[in-house]
Amino acid sequence: MLVLNRSYHPVRITTVREAFSLLFCGRADALDAAYEPHCFERWAGLRVEAHEPSVRTPRGALRAPRLLLLRGYNRVPRTPLRLSRRNVFLRDGHACMYCGDDEDELTIDHVLPRSRGGRSSWENLVACCRRCNLDKGHRTPEEAGMTLRVRPARPTWTVVVQLDGLKHPLPDWEPFLEGVLPRAS
Ligand SMILES: [Zn+2]
Repeated sequence: MLVLNRSYHPVRITTVREAFSLLFCGRADALDAAYEPHCFERWAGLRVEAHEPSVRTPRGALRAPRLLLLRGYNRVPRTPLRLSRRNVFLRDGHACMYCGDDEDELTIDHVLPRSRGGRSSWENLVACCRRCNLDKGHRTPEEAGMTLRVRPARPTWTVVVQLDGLKHPLPDWEPFLEGVLPRAS
């Protein structure tokens, strides 16, 4: 379930259970297919269509919300992004941060080499093609005459990373994800 903040920006993806708890506590409204917000009472009163995903509750079957709109300002805590190979590749759009190549098999480069005290952090790790990694060796980009296309930083969108793990983001989510996804696919 995709959670949007009050400005309709995606904040994170939750389980159905979390979504219901937000809806039930009045912290969020559920959006229907026409993007109309509904509070829990109104949502519970909606007919459950046979083709709609639903959940069983003590008060009968309820439609499973697919989009939630937070009422307060972004009160859902963001899950901190785990620093991993996969997430660095994702942040960097699966392309080398020096030459932009997205064909070659990617490696991880320490911008300031580990042998020179470079740490494994969001600010010091970038996606790098094998060729650039070999060229750079144990040098800094300046020493190697290479330029980073983007200064590496901790990514802010939890949603982006969560989406990568999903095979099929729901079609209802699309209007809210424009500009959020780092790659075109
Ligand atoms: Zn490269």
